[in-house]
Amino acid sequence: MTLAHFLDGLRCASCRALNVLWLDTVRGLVECSECGQTALTFPEIGEEVR
Ligand SMILES: [Zn+2]
Repeated sequence: MTLAHFLDGLRCASCRALNVLWLDTVRGLVECSECGQTALTFPEIGEEVR
């Protein structure tokens, strides 16, 4: 059973690491395995926001 899916090609908005985000389908959020940053599904993906 797979509960988490790594999101290829996505960059963490917090620590800028690539391919470290995984989708927690149970809680419906995205978490960074590098810095631990979490966000509700599909935060600012890719480029800078603001
Ligand atoms: Zn991060």
